[in-house]
Amino acid sequence: MQCKKCSKECMESELTNGFCSDCIQKYGLTSEEIHYKKNHLAGIIKSLVIVIIVLGCILGFVGIVLNIAIGIAIFVATFISALLFSSIAEIIQLLEDIKNK
Ligand SMILES: [Zn+2]
Repeated sequence: MQCKKCSKECMESELTNGFCSDCIQKYGLTSEEIHYKKNHLAGIIKSLVIVIIVLGCILGFVGIVLNIAIGIAIFVATFISALLFSSIAEIIQLLEDIKNK
């Protein structure tokens, strides 16, 4: 097993979340911080999903006021994009979990 930061060869039992004890001391990484870092991209996409839903709802209501068909189309588009983006975030998360096993 190698440390993910310095690539030093270590026993599996010496590694914490894939990082050697030297790196954890040197960079002051706690296990929570490592966990946060490895899920960074998935976290960004998950926040993007929330932004899409909020914007989609606002635009959807505005659209309904103007024209019911436009409003419904915006709601459907919002729902589909939110679903797609959250699936991508989930896939990234699962791949990261597999990689960090
Ligand atoms: Zn290291």
